[in-house]
Amino acid sequence: MLERISDKFSDIFRQLSGKATISEKNIQDAVEEIKVALLEADVNLRVVRRFVNRTIEEAKGEAVLKAVNPGQQFVKIVNDKIVQLLGDEHQDLELKGPDALSSILMMGLQGSGKTTTSAKLGLRLKKEGRRVLLVAADLVRPAAVDQLKVLGKQVDLEVFSLEKEKDPVKLVGEAKKYAIKSSFNTMIVDTSGRLHLDEEMMKQIVDIKRVLDPQEQLFVADSMTGQEAVTIAKSFDEQVGISGVVLTKFDSDTRGGAALSLKSVTGKPIKYVGVGEKPEDLDPFYPERIASRILGMGDVVSLVEKAQETIDLEEAAALQEKMISATFTLEDYLESFARMRKMGSVQSLLEMIPGAKGAISEDDIDEKEMKKEEAIILSMTIVERRNHRIIGPSRRKRIAKGSGSSVAEVNRLIKRFEKMRLMMKKVSKNKKYQAKLMQNLGV
Ligand code: GDP
Repeated sequence: MLERISDKFSDIFRQLSGKATISEKNIQDAVEEIKVALLEADVNLRVVRRFVNRTIEEAKGEAVLKAVNPGQQFVKIVNDKIVQLLGDEHQDLELKGPDALSSILMMGLQGSGKTTTSAKLGLRLKKEGRRVLLVAADLVRPAAVDQLKVLGKQVDLEVFSLEKEKDPVKLVGEAKKYAIKSSFNTMIVDTSGRLHLDEEMMKQIVDIKRVLDPQEQLFVADSMTGQEAVTIAKSFDEQVGISGVVLTKFDSDTRGGAALSLKSVTGKPIKYVGVGEKPEDLDPFYPERIASRILGMGDVVSLVEKAQETIDLEEAAALQEKMISATFTLEDYLESFARMRKMGSVQSLLEMIPGAKGAISEDDIDEKEMKKEEAIILSMTIVERRNHRIIGPSRRKRIAKGSGSSVAEVNRLIKRFEKMRLMMKKVSKNKKYQAKLMQNLGV
């Protein structure tokens, strides 16, 4: 996700990072390139203008021009501005306590991912201990009710539907009564979407809202539609009112335009992102983490959280320490393969490792390649694994033979490993990251 924009930013920053001093002209040029990158990413023009003006203003201040490391200072300013665009802090759902009924109204155009997201959100809230009822009130799209029923079964949640009822407003009224009677404390109402905005649809949602009196009115937006998603969100907000946004298909969004414009234009926070088709693929939206990804700095915090889910805290702390101090050896690299397999998709994990981007190309990350690399490292002695610098030409030949690979393949592995280590070292100098990581680990 976000590859394209992230690559652009990495290029822009690379040009600046080596410079001992930066002139106003350098800043102007970099900002101009950032502007193009944002526009190419389909970010709203007004948002881009504001972003550019504010960045220039701040970057031209004394702080950057006279800083010891002006390149880094500049990156920090851009980072902070992007975090601001994305909404500063993560915003949670605002639901009532467990003893009262809360409801969530899901709205958006057809195909945006409403039905899927309703089930995903239901699963997430169930895991948080809520008693969730899914309500099938999309009576327009053929098969939407059945789809929700199938999804409901998958995530083990009850789905309320009425076969004969054609009026979604009445259906929602009945669902509410049923929820109260059956002691549910959370209702997620999947409403119908049309292919385009239309008045009748808006009127219907306003009527449903009146009956439901929801705590959250979530607008589900397909991030692949870029600016169009922003325009539609705005009109839903004006006519019905939205309390937050769920950005779906974020896993396929290479541009990031919708994510970068939505908060600025609507003033409404993105609360979740959909990152795949499975019920578990819904993540809370953290502006700072997404900003890091956009700027090509990886998402160490999410990586650590994922790691925490699968490995114990001590192991996570050790891994973390190695990343921070950059004393990562080939031995650790080998261990990380097994860990990655345990944690899930290799590709999604690599995206989060600082420096993996650029240092590791796409064809490097398939399982076959991992097995090959594993074989190569396994052919090394423990001493070699702990200190890759001693692996000279004759050792490389021996290792290649032992692992059934070529010397070129051994060379490539070592080169990639060195690159990764170097990038880790660079990122580890970023104090803000470190503080966050430590806090995240509870140390
Ligand atoms: P609705 O018409 O708004 O209810 O849309 P659906 O829930 O039926 O979703 C439309 C399509 O988008 C389905 O094929 C979903 O599997 C897919 N989809 C929804 N959310 C995501 C997501 O976050 N990532 C990906 N890759 N696909 C998604």
